[in-house]
Amino acid sequence: EAKARGRSRHEFHSESLSERARERLALEADLRRAIAEGQFELHYQPKVGLGDAHIVGAEALLRWKHPERGMVPPDRFIPVAEDCGLIVPIGTWVLQQACAAAAAWNRERPAGDPLRIAINLSPRQFMNHDLVQTVRDALDASACRPEWIELEITERLLLDERNQAEDILNGLRALGLTLAIDDFGTGYSALGYLTRYPIGTLKIDKSFMRDITTRPDRAGIVRAIILMGHSLKLGLVAEGVETEEQAAFLREQGCELAQGWLYGRPMPPQAFGEHVAARITPAVPAPLLPA
Ligand code: C2E
Ligand code: MG
Ligand code: MG
Ligand code: MG
Repeated sequence: EAKARGRSRHEFHSESLSERARERLALEADLRRAIAEGQFELHYQPKVGLGDAHIVGAEALLRWKHPERGMVPPDRFIPVAEDCGLIVPIGTWVLQQACAAAAAWNRERPAGDPLRIAINLSPRQFMNHDLVQTVRDALDASACRPEWIELEITERLLLDERNQAEDILNGLRALGLTLAIDDFGTGYSALGYLTRYPIGTLKIDKSFMRDITTRPDRAGIVRAIILMGHSLKLGLVAEGVETEEQAAFLREQGCELAQGWLYGRPMPPQAFGEHVAARITPAVPAPLLPA
């Protein structure tokens, strides 16, 4: 996109580009209506322990049910929402929904075994915007405890000096939430930021999982990330785990948590609630009814 914008003038007027621009404007106009008209849904993908696959939480993933286009994937509309700034109100809606869901699920759970819900934040939400207050309000509104929420940010945010990421991240950490780096390994690999910011978890990008069991170089990167994470006392989550072979490799390397189709696709809140309930094994077996 940025490259296309910089090209020569005749190309700028080419059919395909103006068509793309029109398409983008249409998407933007539709996005403006989407919140008010309740077209967004938040789905939840289970996150599990690699040892016994018990559910430790979920990642909240945004879904847009467009009245004519059907499901629009986040990779199509989130960049548009970021460019026009709509990601700020959309992101606030996501925070409110996810905190309310986290509170509802955790209120029904035994103490000491909380579900942690991860929420994706866009760098745009860190610009000219009181993100700490927005997060605090979302927690308060549903009496959600900060330890039930993890915030996912990207390396992109930490390396962009235009925002006030450092102060805001310290403020969020001070609220008691944990912070994770999403898609780790795909960015600029400026590893210094790992000790500068209050990061608790690395989510190893799913692009590394694909050939983890067939390509020694890929496996080597994942092994190195896990070693580094451990020595910096960071939590590790492998994303995009689709096969038992991948899970076995990760387990062997000491990775604690995983997320991926092997353990569950993103699902609507009610389905996630049922998914969790179906997997809780009662500590004391139910008494047999007398004959
Ligand atoms: P992400 O945060 O890295 O989320 C993980 C993506 O991997 C999700 O794509 C998920 O559906 C997909 N995935 C999970 N397990 C597997 C697997 O085993 N195999 C494969 N091939 N894919 C798997 P999704 O839902 O399409 O979201 C794409 C991206 O959109 C997210 O990447 C995130 O960056 C962004 N996004 C989603 N929801 C939000 C949101 O509420 N706010 C913001 N700012 N960004 C969001
Ligand atoms: Mg994420
Ligand atoms: Mg990711
Ligand atoms: Mg991603």
